[in-house]
Amino acid sequence: MPKRVYFFGAGKAEGNGSQKELLGGKGAGLAEMTMIGLPVPAGFTLTIATCAEYYASGKRYPKELDKEIRQNISKLEKATGKRLGDPKNPLLVSVRSGAARSMPGMMETILNLGLNDVSVEGMAKTFGDARFAYDSYRRFIQMFSTTAMGLSKEPMEEMLHKMKHDLHIKEDSQIPADSLKVLCNQFKAFYLEKKGEPFPQDPIVQLWGAISAVFNCWEADKAVKYRQVEKLNFLTGTGVNVQQMVFGNKNDRSGTGVCFTRDPNTGENIFYGDWLINAQGEDVVAGIRTPMKLIEMDSKYPGAYKQLCAVRKTLEKHYKDMQDLEFTVEDEKLYMLQCRSGKRSPQAIFVMAADMVKEKLITKEEAIKRIASDDIDRLFYPVIDPKTPKKDLEAKKLTTGINAVPGAATGEVVFNAEDAEALAAKGVPVILVRKETSPEDVGGMHAAQGILTQTGGKTSHAAVVARGWGKCCIVGCEALNISYEKQEVTIGSTVIKKGDFLTLDGSEGVVYIGKLDLIKPELPNAYYTVLKYCDEIRTLAVRTNADTPYDAQKAIEMGAQGIGLCRTEHMFFDSEERILAIREMIVADTVEVRKAALAKLLPIQRADFYGIFKAMNGYPVTIRLIDPPLHEFVPHDEDAQRNLAKAIGIPFEKVKHRVEQLHESNPMLGHRGCRLCITYPEILEMQVRAIIEAAVQCKKEGIKVLPEIMHPLVFDAKEFDLLESQTRAVAKEVIDAAGIKLEYLVGTMIEVPRAALLADEIARKAQFFSFGTNDLTQMTMALSRDDAGRFLPDYVDSKKAGIFKNDPFQSLDQAGVGKLMKIGIAGGRATNPKLKIGICGEHGGEAASVKFCHKIGLNYVSCSPFRVPIARLAAAQAVVEEKDAAKAAAPKKKAAPKKAVAKVVAKKAAAPAKKAAPAKKAAPAKKAAPAKKAAPKAKPAAKKRK
Ligand code: ADP
Ligand code: MG
Ligand code: MG
Repeated sequence: MPKRVYFFGAGKAEGNGSQKELLGGKGAGLAEMTMIGLPVPAGFTLTIATCAEYYASGKRYPKELDKEIRQNISKLEKATGKRLGDPKNPLLVSVRSGAARSMPGMMETILNLGLNDVSVEGMAKTFGDARFAYDSYRRFIQMFSTTAMGLSKEPMEEMLHKMKHDLHIKEDSQIPADSLKVLCNQFKAFYLEKKGEPFPQDPIVQLWGAISAVFNCWEADKAVKYRQVEKLNFLTGTGVNVQQMVFGNKNDRSGTGVCFTRDPNTGENIFYGDWLINAQGEDVVAGIRTPMKLIEMDSKYPGAYKQLCAVRKTLEKHYKDMQDLEFTVEDEKLYMLQCRSGKRSPQAIFVMAADMVKEKLITKEEAIKRIASDDIDRLFYPVIDPKTPKKDLEAKKLTTGINAVPGAATGEVVFNAEDAEALAAKGVPVILVRKETSPEDVGGMHAAQGILTQTGGKTSHAAVVARGWGKCCIVGCEALNISYEKQEVTIGSTVIKKGDFLTLDGSEGVVYIGKLDLIKPELPNAYYTVLKYCDEIRTLAVRTNADTPYDAQKAIEMGAQGIGLCRTEHMFFDSEERILAIREMIVADTVEVRKAALAKLLPIQRADFYGIFKAMNGYPVTIRLIDPPLHEFVPHDEDAQRNLAKAIGIPFEKVKHRVEQLHESNPMLGHRGCRLCITYPEILEMQVRAIIEAAVQCKKEGIKVLPEIMHPLVFDAKEFDLLESQTRAVAKEVIDAAGIKLEYLVGTMIEVPRAALLADEIARKAQFFSFGTNDLTQMTMALSRDDAGRFLPDYVDSKKAGIFKNDPFQSLDQAGVGKLMKIGIAGGRATNPKLKIGICGEHGGEAASVKFCHKIGLNYVSCSPFRVPIARLAAAQAVVEEKDAAKAAAPKKKAAPKKAVAKVVAKKAAAPAKKAAPAKKAAPAKKAAPAKKAAPKAKPAAKKRK
């Protein structure tokens, strides 16, 4: 029988912080905080597995659960010295949900459970405070009736409101005891009327009701939707935490708050948070009252504040990460109610990682592990163009709120989540404007460019959810007067209607009317620091796909160490002159005419290559010879054909005829790639000449060059040998004529399955391979990348066919295409141990694929310039993960008979095991690569794979 309930209290806990998957984040955090001696009210946690059992058996509880819970209640009663349902001094508990991943506000919590008509009187006497006792009771009745029993919230809120109105008071805390008692009776009468039975008085019945409520909220629409949006579908349920209550609503020497051990927006190492005096639970987060800054606690309750500062230090040291904390102060004594690693802005992720390495709190490896590839994308989120004239900004400034999540956003105003989702689906950028957000709104919040709320602080629902996404958000914008009915918001005398434009500056908290220009932000220094750590650790080189000197320059700025794919055909579309020249070459019907046309292209290409070589300054540059089918270059409508005929001085019919000739019914599998050069060797000759002449020119000017000439779509050794010898012949002629020495490589793409299978033969002459995984995926799967969009989504959707986890054109199909790659690598290196191998498909910039490329021993990946940092990160993470896996595998090798011995053995075994790590196994291949020779000396990461 599995253990289903884990106790924590008085410095001891049955679970611990590593058991998030079993106890949920909240349960694991409570156990860990208890064990390290922090003041945590005692309690127990029902496991997530129990929730999964409950659902698996058609919402029934396992038989033995009742007994286990009763035992734990007894333990809790012993630990607290109070008894559940005691008429004099009752034990009150909270019943709290908590899944393995944070799902802010998605699930339910019930506070003050254990109160009934008798014990509320006992509590009033024991504490000498009837107001407090009845305030707790009315909160409990409200929460239990709505969350556990499904009554709607409004009627009881109405009664509360009316009570305050009749008494001419504003704050809940001002309602006197007698009136609260009346309110409790009204609530109970309402409950009886709606449910046909009296409000449950037995605490055990209450407890089971609350446990059911927590379990059932797992499948509530909003929670299901949240898991979909956040890709958390793998979670199996929630834990339930039953915990002794502490009372922030007891008096003015009590309060409750939420804080972060560092600033979650800037990442700065300062204590940061909100709190309220005389308040309970959700009051701070719900944004009903505007909270105070944490620092104000220092003057109000210096003792508790000091304790809290100590807790901050302890927890950061313990978890080696920024923590998000919930606390309550009761009679100036501090209690900790929750801790978890805090969500933070993309900028803060880098700042904290770099700072913590400097503080020696974490290692560089740990810092690298903490960054997700999405975080890099998010860093590049827009800000308002700083060149916007100050006058314009002033004129458009509408109002200010609390700067909850940095970045900027501009879009059409909408007032509800459905509209946001509907418009965003059509590609319209929207700003979601709400009084406050609630978990029901997450779909719309996700779809919106930015979020603006009237109420709430930096820890409100809107702020927390938006921060997780790095989405611009302004909260607590009190000047807004929102009418959902009229679909408009009034600010002073300005009325903004649905569909009007607003621009938000989430960094400053300013709302502007209309559209402002947004630009990419400046990156924090910490970004460069963390990526430098990545470069130190990774062994996989990162190159870029670039076709112009400009792109090449950009890519170097992003950290690229060479060009892995320069597509020569892209150079032909740059100007009218170029298009004309290539078209003339294609419509030519004799070798002489074609050569004449090619002669016009030669200087153009040479100049481009020269520019690229210069920009890459010694880094390797892989140039792929012409690849697409020729018909893609010629005009298909009559007017354009006539123009072309006129421009190059041949009859229109001839052009038309040639275009028809070039037509193919399946061009993807047609006359393209190296097959063009097999048929028209003069194209090869011109391109190789242009490359080598440009390289010679660079060399003469003292610029380092390393051209790598690449033949696309090769599928046979004899075919490659032919191309290779032609390439070398042309190159030799140019080099000899120049009278200098020039190093260059000749290689091939591996993008046809046959080439992967026959790689051993092809590698006899090839000096390098580059996996073209776009084509290789198409051809291995027999799926057209351009058309698969119609059905591929069903293959990826786990609710439909769910055949693939990811789109194979985005994330490499490791099982199939990956297997071909492995065959290709093994074959290639078997005949040519020095073979340099890379990848140049889209996959080269996708984190999971990059890690795979590292694992199978590639020398480099190549991707578009803006994805270069993602590839650098992923390549470093691959090394760290490999090390971690080796460490984890080490102790298992010698399974010791007894536990006590196991530890000692594990320590000893760890050292040799490290040496045997898979990294080293791959080493011969790495060492054998021509990296050393080919590497231009001065480059930082050149010591590794190239
Ligand atoms: P959430 O996951 O939505 O944060 P929690 O379970 O943390 O929900 O609880 C909601 C609120 O109730 C929080 O502010 C929390 O601090 C407070 N709370 C929960 N348990 C207790 C308790 N035993 N005593 C006092 N306050 C509590
Ligand atoms: Mg909480
Ligand atoms: Mg290709």
